[in-house]
Amino acid sequence: MQTSTNSAQTSASATHTKVPITVAYGDGIGPEIMEATLRILEAAGAQLDIEEIEIGEKVYLKGNTAGIAPQAWDSLRRTKVFLKAPITTPQGGGFKSLNVTTRKTLGLFSNVRPCVSYHPFVSTKHPVMDVVIIRENEEDLYAGIEHQQTDEVTQCLKLISRPGTEKIVRYAFEYARAYGRKKVTCFTKDNIMKLTDGLFHKIFDEIATEYPDIENEHWIIDIGAAKLADSPENFDVIVMPNLYGDVLSDVAAQITGSVGLAGSANIGEGFAMFEAIHGSAPRRAGQNVANPSGLLLGAVQMLVYIGQADVAEKVHNAWLKTMEDGIHTYDIFKEGTSKEKVSTSDFASAVIARVGQKPSTLKAVKYEGGKSIKVTSSPTKKGKKETIGVDLFLHWTEANGGKDPNVLGESLKQYGYNGLNLKMITNRGLKVYPDGFPETFCTDHWRCRYQKADESPITHKEIVELMRLVTEAGFDVIKTENLCTFDGVKSYSLGQGQ
Ligand code: NAD
Repeated sequence: MQTSTNSAQTSASATHTKVPITVAYGDGIGPEIMEATLRILEAAGAQLDIEEIEIGEKVYLKGNTAGIAPQAWDSLRRTKVFLKAPITTPQGGGFKSLNVTTRKTLGLFSNVRPCVSYHPFVSTKHPVMDVVIIRENEEDLYAGIEHQQTDEVTQCLKLISRPGTEKIVRYAFEYARAYGRKKVTCFTKDNIMKLTDGLFHKIFDEIATEYPDIENEHWIIDIGAAKLADSPENFDVIVMPNLYGDVLSDVAAQITGSVGLAGSANIGEGFAMFEAIHGSAPRRAGQNVANPSGLLLGAVQMLVYIGQADVAEKVHNAWLKTMEDGIHTYDIFKEGTSKEKVSTSDFASAVIARVGQKPSTLKAVKYEGGKSIKVTSSPTKKGKKETIGVDLFLHWTEANGGKDPNVLGESLKQYGYNGLNLKMITNRGLKVYPDGFPETFCTDHWRCRYQKADESPITHKEIVELMRLVTEAGFDVIKTENLCTFDGVKSYSLGQGQ
């Protein structure tokens, strides 16, 4: 970054040495909002040594399905700090989301997304809102393990791990403590996903007991989301699995006034990435109209992270003053509330002009350095694992294309191995054999559960022999899932209606 004669910068540069960071200008509105952000950081005296990398659409379209070249990884490994503008992920074509890849490759397990109302200066239905969404960033359906298994059925695996959940939940409580927050809420759907979301909720309850100074609560995600959208003033810090956090942080940012207002920090043990929560808004690209605030507030979190909290404070307060003075981009401009509708670059100039000022009505921010949050997961306790059955998943229709579960069940009943016999069949999770309802709609994807009559342990060899018999009888086995107990507890879902 070039030096300037700005007085704010002079005082900050006296106390900071330049910190290397990697910057990507991204796609769509990315370059415009990045340029605006970097101008503001420079004017406030941020001491940054910028390495620029190219990622995103251009890289994808050169045939690199990851959207990032190997040299770019070298830069990220060197600087360990990434300021990233949004990118466009081309639809289909086997392109993997670079955001997800970066978060997972660099171990950025925690995604921190503050969503704040700026009433009465930014029009919002929710004048009192100051919510921080802490989204798990590496697991859940974002493992991206998907398969088409039959003509009719596709599948995506949802993975929730104990260490991953422990880290994110602990991070949420540590964040609450570090930033003087009073309550941590957890959202899951564990009334339906009893094992995956159930584990997340269970670990939340376990870890909450270590933080008696912080209130805790859990909501089922559907009603929780409704309450967040209706009365966000009742929430403080909310921790949730990846997909829910992705969706609800957009909702939360939008109801503060615009999705363009919220920044996001992706934090790992050795690396961090800072960005806006919104995407590349391709329809607004190249028009110099986009709101750079989301990326700027992401950059503010970066300044705190790299130890330039005084600069972060200066930038954030100048930005708040600009909001307060009614100088707004199109997305938040409202006749009567706003004073001046400005372009991206003019908005940046307005913030720069206010560096050194504080808001007079909105609460000025105060950042302290040295608040790095370190969390670990406890060593995994190895349970006593026994396999007591197996689910064979079949792609099956009758010769005439029919899908009668009784035909499948009666046929499969002939093939058992060593007492390992068909117990039930489900279709899309619902038990359809034995004693199914003829009215139930069935697809061509069947889960056939095999267990011994007394549910005693079975061996892998028995599973392989069973599969051999079923396959030789002409059935298409798509996959198997073992039915296990851990320390005697059944650790698989029952069929609905079983
Ligand atoms: P989007 O967030 O890019 O845009 C949705 C709408 O929100 C826009 O049309 C615009 O009206 C508004 N908006 C977003 N950012 C704004 C800003 N800074 N100022 C003013 N208005 C703003 O969502 P999308 O259209 O669903 O996605 C577009 C592309 O972005 C897709 O390719 C998607 O994969 C990608 N994306 C990238 C990221 C990222 O890089 N982190 C995140 C989400 C989506």
